[in-house]
Amino acid sequence: MSRRYLIAGNWKMNGSLSANAVLLSELSLQQDQYSGMDRLVCPPAPYLESVERQLGGGILLGAQNLSDQTKAGAFTGEVLGDMLVELGCRYVIVGHSERRALYGEDDATVARKFAAAQAAGLIPILCVGETLEERESGATEAVLGRQLGAVLAASGVGAFAKAVIAYEPVWAIGTGRTATTEQAQTTHAFLRGQLAAQDAKIANSTQLLYGGSVKADNAASLLSCDDVDGGLIGGASLKAAEFLAICAAAQALSKN
Ligand code: PEP
Repeated sequence: MSRRYLIAGNWKMNGSLSANAVLLSELSLQQDQYSGMDRLVCPPAPYLESVERQLGGGILLGAQNLSDQTKAGAFTGEVLGDMLVELGCRYVIVGHSERRALYGEDDATVARKFAAAQAAGLIPILCVGETLEERESGATEAVLGRQLGAVLAASGVGAFAKAVIAYEPVWAIGTGRTATTEQAQTTHAFLRGQLAAQDAKIANSTQLLYGGSVKADNAASLLSCDDVDGGLIGGASLKAAEFLAICAAAQALSKN
Protein backbone atom coordinates (compact mmCIF):
# COMPACT_ATOMS: atom_id res chain seq x y z
CA MET A 1 0.00 0.00 0.00
CA SER A 2 1.31 3.47 -0.74
CA ARG A 3 0.63 5.71 2.20
CA ARG A 4 0.23 9.43 1.60
CA TYR A 5 2.89 11.68 3.06
CA LEU A 6 1.86 14.13 5.78
CA ILE A 7 4.11 17.03 6.73
CA ALA A 8 2.87 18.63 9.95
CA GLY A 9 4.21 21.86 11.42
CA ASN A 10 4.14 22.13 15.20
CA TRP A 11 4.53 25.86 15.86
CA LYS A 12 4.69 25.24 19.63
CA MET A 13 4.23 28.47 21.67
CA ASN A 14 5.47 30.75 18.88
CA GLY A 15 3.94 33.34 16.61
CA SER A 16 1.92 36.54 16.65
CA LEU A 17 -0.92 37.77 14.46
CA SER A 18 1.50 39.65 12.23
CA ALA A 19 4.21 36.96 12.08
CA ASN A 20 1.58 34.29 11.33
CA ALA A 21 0.19 36.35 8.45
CA VAL A 22 3.63 36.60 6.84
CA LEU A 23 4.37 32.89 7.31
CA LEU A 24 0.96 31.83 5.97
CA SER A 25 1.15 34.02 2.91
CA GLU A 26 4.50 32.41 2.04
CA LEU A 27 3.20 28.90 2.75
CA SER A 28 0.15 29.45 0.56
CA LEU A 29 2.19 30.03 -2.59
CA GLN A 30 2.05 27.47 -5.40
CA GLN A 31 -0.40 25.16 -3.64
CA ASP A 32 -0.72 22.90 -6.69
CA GLN A 33 2.92 21.81 -6.34
CA TYR A 34 2.00 19.68 -3.33
CA SER A 35 -1.00 17.76 -4.64
CA GLY A 36 0.46 14.33 -3.84
CA MET A 37 0.86 14.90 -0.10
CA ASP A 38 -0.83 16.65 2.82
CA ARG A 39 0.42 19.72 4.64
CA LEU A 40 -0.75 20.61 8.12
CA VAL A 41 -0.04 23.49 10.50
CA CYS A 42 -0.66 23.36 14.25
CA PRO A 43 -0.54 26.92 15.62
CA PRO A 44 -1.13 27.89 19.26
CA ALA A 45 -4.83 27.65 20.18
CA PRO A 46 -5.55 31.41 20.30
CA TYR A 47 -4.55 31.72 16.64
CA LEU A 48 -6.52 28.80 15.25
CA GLU A 49 -9.44 30.87 14.02
CA SER A 50 -7.37 33.52 12.24
CA VAL A 51 -4.99 30.93 10.78
CA GLU A 52 -7.95 28.95 9.45
CA ARG A 53 -9.24 32.07 7.68
CA GLN A 54 -5.87 32.61 6.00
CA LEU A 55 -5.13 29.04 4.96
CA GLY A 56 -6.98 29.10 1.68
CA GLY A 57 -7.85 25.43 1.53
CA GLY A 58 -4.58 23.82 0.51
CA ILE A 59 -3.19 23.42 4.02
CA LEU A 60 -4.89 21.54 6.86
CA LEU A 61 -5.33 22.85 10.40
CA GLY A 62 -4.53 21.10 13.66
CA ALA A 63 -4.17 21.91 17.35
CA GLN A 64 -1.31 21.11 19.70
CA ASN A 65 -3.33 19.87 22.65
CA LEU A 66 -6.87 19.26 23.91
CA SER A 67 -8.71 18.41 27.10
CA ASP A 68 -9.20 14.79 28.07
CA GLN A 69 -12.84 15.68 28.77
CA THR A 70 -15.50 14.90 26.19
CA LYS A 71 -18.22 17.27 27.45
CA ALA A 72 -18.19 21.00 28.15
CA GLY A 73 -18.10 22.00 31.80
CA ALA A 74 -16.18 23.52 34.67
CA PHE A 75 -12.62 22.85 33.49
CA THR A 76 -10.91 26.24 33.64
CA GLY A 77 -8.23 26.73 31.02
CA GLU A 78 -9.05 23.57 29.08
CA VAL A 79 -10.07 23.28 25.41
CA LEU A 80 -12.71 20.75 24.35
CA GLY A 81 -12.19 18.73 21.17
CA ASP A 82 -15.56 19.94 19.82
CA MET A 83 -14.30 23.52 20.06
CA LEU A 84 -11.27 22.66 17.94
CA VAL A 85 -13.52 21.05 15.34
CA GLU A 86 -15.70 24.17 15.31
CA LEU A 87 -12.59 26.24 14.51
CA GLY A 88 -11.73 24.06 11.53
CA CYS A 89 -9.21 21.64 13.04
CA ARG A 90 -8.91 18.18 11.52
CA TYR A 91 -5.96 16.98 13.61
CA VAL A 92 -4.65 17.37 17.15
CA ILE A 93 -1.25 16.47 18.58
CA VAL A 94 -1.44 14.34 21.74
CA GLY A 95 1.34 13.22 24.05
CA HIS A 96 4.08 15.48 22.72
CA SER A 97 7.19 14.89 24.81
CA GLU A 98 7.11 18.50 26.03
CA ARG A 99 3.65 17.89 27.46
CA ARG A 100 4.74 14.59 28.97
CA ALA A 101 7.90 16.08 30.51
CA LEU A 102 6.81 19.63 31.43
CA TYR A 103 3.12 19.17 32.20
CA GLY A 104 3.12 15.73 33.75
CA GLU A 105 1.05 13.97 31.10
CA ASP A 106 1.41 10.27 31.75
CA ASP A 107 0.43 7.39 29.47
CA ALA A 108 -3.07 7.22 30.95
CA THR A 109 -3.68 10.94 30.38
CA VAL A 110 -2.40 10.69 26.82
CA ALA A 111 -4.67 7.70 26.20
CA ARG A 112 -7.68 9.70 27.47
CA LYS A 113 -6.76 12.65 25.25
CA PHE A 114 -6.39 10.34 22.24
CA ALA A 115 -9.88 8.95 22.90
CA ALA A 116 -11.32 12.44 23.48
CA ALA A 117 -9.87 13.61 20.17
CA GLN A 118 -11.51 10.76 18.29
CA ALA A 119 -14.78 11.25 20.14
CA ALA A 120 -14.82 14.80 18.75
CA GLY A 121 -14.01 13.59 15.22
CA LEU A 122 -10.39 14.79 15.27
CA ILE A 123 -7.46 12.72 14.01
CA PRO A 124 -4.99 12.39 16.89
CA ILE A 125 -1.28 12.54 16.13
CA LEU A 126 0.03 10.37 18.94
CA CYS A 127 3.63 11.27 19.84
CA VAL A 128 5.89 8.62 21.28
CA GLY A 129 9.60 8.73 21.90
CA GLU A 130 12.43 7.73 24.20
CA THR A 131 14.98 9.87 26.05
CA LEU A 132 18.69 9.60 25.30
CA GLU A 133 19.24 7.66 28.51
CA GLU A 134 16.52 5.19 27.51
CA ARG A 135 18.01 4.74 24.03
CA GLU A 136 21.52 4.27 25.37
CA SER A 137 20.36 1.71 27.90
CA GLY A 138 18.59 -0.28 25.18
CA ALA A 139 15.11 0.55 26.47
CA THR A 140 13.75 2.22 23.31
CA GLU A 141 11.36 -0.56 22.31
CA ALA A 142 10.14 -1.08 25.86
CA VAL A 143 9.35 2.64 26.21
CA LEU A 144 7.63 2.92 22.85
CA GLY A 145 5.77 -0.33 23.42
CA ARG A 146 4.48 1.03 26.74
CA GLN A 147 3.47 4.44 25.32
CA LEU A 148 1.69 2.95 22.31
CA GLY A 149 0.35 0.04 24.37
CA ALA A 150 -1.50 2.40 26.72
CA VAL A 151 -3.47 3.82 23.79
CA LEU A 152 -4.01 0.41 22.20
CA ALA A 153 -5.36 -0.91 25.49
CA ALA A 154 -7.73 2.03 25.93
CA SER A 155 -8.96 2.57 22.35
CA GLY A 156 -8.17 -0.67 20.52
CA VAL A 157 -6.20 -1.16 17.32
CA GLY A 158 -9.24 -0.15 15.24
CA ALA A 159 -8.76 3.42 16.46
CA PHE A 160 -5.55 3.59 14.40
CA ALA A 161 -7.57 3.53 11.20
CA LYS A 162 -8.14 7.22 12.00
CA ALA A 163 -4.97 8.20 13.82
CA VAL A 164 -1.37 9.10 13.09
CA ILE A 165 1.68 8.14 15.12
CA ALA A 166 4.70 10.43 15.38
CA TYR A 167 7.96 8.86 16.50
CA GLU A 168 9.89 11.67 18.13
CA PRO A 169 13.06 10.69 19.96
CA VAL A 170 13.27 13.20 22.82
CA TRP A 171 17.01 13.60 22.25
CA ALA A 172 16.36 14.82 18.70
CA ILE A 173 13.69 17.43 19.45
CA GLY A 174 15.03 20.96 19.08
CA THR A 175 18.61 19.74 19.52
CA GLY A 176 19.79 19.72 15.91
CA ARG A 177 20.57 16.04 16.42
CA THR A 178 18.55 13.75 14.16
CA ALA A 179 18.00 10.01 14.20
CA THR A 180 19.92 8.25 11.46
CA THR A 181 17.83 6.83 8.67
CA GLU A 182 18.59 3.40 10.06
CA GLN A 183 17.40 4.35 13.55
CA ALA A 184 14.27 5.95 12.11
CA GLN A 185 13.43 2.99 9.87
CA THR A 186 14.12 0.37 12.56
CA THR A 187 12.01 2.20 15.11
CA HIS A 188 9.16 2.88 12.71
CA ALA A 189 9.16 -0.77 11.67
CA PHE A 190 8.94 -1.71 15.35
CA LEU A 191 5.93 0.60 15.85
CA ARG A 192 4.20 -0.72 12.74
CA GLY A 193 4.91 -4.23 13.99
CA GLN A 194 3.15 -3.43 17.27
CA LEU A 195 0.03 -2.52 15.30
CA ALA A 196 0.45 -5.44 12.90
CA ALA A 197 0.49 -7.90 15.79
CA GLN A 198 -3.14 -6.91 16.30
CA ASP A 199 -4.29 -5.95 12.78
CA ALA A 200 -2.07 -6.15 9.70
CA LYS A 201 -4.37 -4.10 7.49
CA ILE A 202 -4.56 -1.19 9.90
CA ALA A 203 -0.80 -1.38 10.49
CA ASN A 204 -0.24 -1.10 6.77
CA SER A 205 -2.38 2.00 6.40
CA THR A 206 -1.42 4.00 9.53
CA GLN A 207 0.78 7.01 8.79
CA LEU A 208 3.95 7.06 10.90
CA LEU A 209 5.68 10.44 11.06
CA TYR A 210 9.25 11.05 12.16
CA GLY A 211 9.96 14.14 14.25
CA GLY A 212 13.17 15.55 15.67
CA SER A 213 15.24 18.27 14.01
CA VAL A 214 13.91 17.55 10.52
CA LYS A 215 15.20 20.22 8.15
CA ALA A 216 15.32 20.83 4.41
CA ASP A 217 18.70 19.14 4.16
CA ASN A 218 17.86 15.88 5.95
CA ALA A 219 14.18 15.51 5.01
CA ALA A 220 14.59 13.52 1.79
CA SER A 221 16.73 10.79 3.36
CA LEU A 222 14.43 10.38 6.39
CA LEU A 223 11.28 10.44 4.25
CA SER A 224 12.67 7.85 1.89
CA CYS A 225 12.64 5.18 4.65
CA ASP A 226 9.96 2.57 3.89
CA ASP A 227 8.07 3.09 7.13
CA VAL A 228 8.38 6.88 7.38
CA ASP A 229 5.23 8.49 6.00
CA GLY A 230 5.91 12.10 6.83
CA GLY A 231 7.31 14.43 9.42
CA LEU A 232 6.32 16.36 12.51
CA ILE A 233 8.34 19.53 12.18
CA GLY A 234 9.02 21.95 15.05
CA GLY A 235 11.62 24.69 14.52
CA ALA A 236 11.77 24.37 10.74
CA SER A 237 8.00 24.82 10.44
CA LEU A 238 8.38 28.47 11.46
CA LYS A 239 10.51 29.22 8.40
CA ALA A 240 8.47 29.09 5.21
CA ALA A 241 11.39 28.21 2.94
CA GLU A 242 12.46 25.30 5.20
CA PHE A 243 8.94 23.96 5.65
CA LEU A 244 8.20 24.18 1.92
CA ALA A 245 11.47 22.46 1.06
CA ILE A 246 10.51 19.58 3.39
CA CYS A 247 7.08 19.43 1.71
CA ALA A 248 8.76 19.44 -1.70
CA ALA A 249 10.93 16.48 -0.61
CA ALA A 250 7.76 14.57 0.36
CA GLN A 251 6.06 15.54 -2.88
CA ALA A 252 9.07 14.31 -4.90
CA LEU A 253 8.90 10.92 -3.15
CA SER A 254 5.12 10.72 -3.36
CA LYS A 255 3.54 7.96 -5.41
CA ASN A 256 0.18 9.73 -5.66
C1 PEP B 1 8.60 18.82 17.68
O1 PEP B 1 8.51 19.61 18.58
O2 PEP B 1 7.65 18.06 17.45
C2 PEP B 1 9.84 18.77 16.89
C3 PEP B 1 10.04 17.73 16.13
O3 PEP B 1 10.69 19.83 17.02
P1 PEP B 1 12.02 20.12 16.15
O4 PEP B 1 11.68 19.86 14.71
O5 PEP B 1 12.33 21.55 16.41
O6 PEP B 1 13.06 19.18 16.64
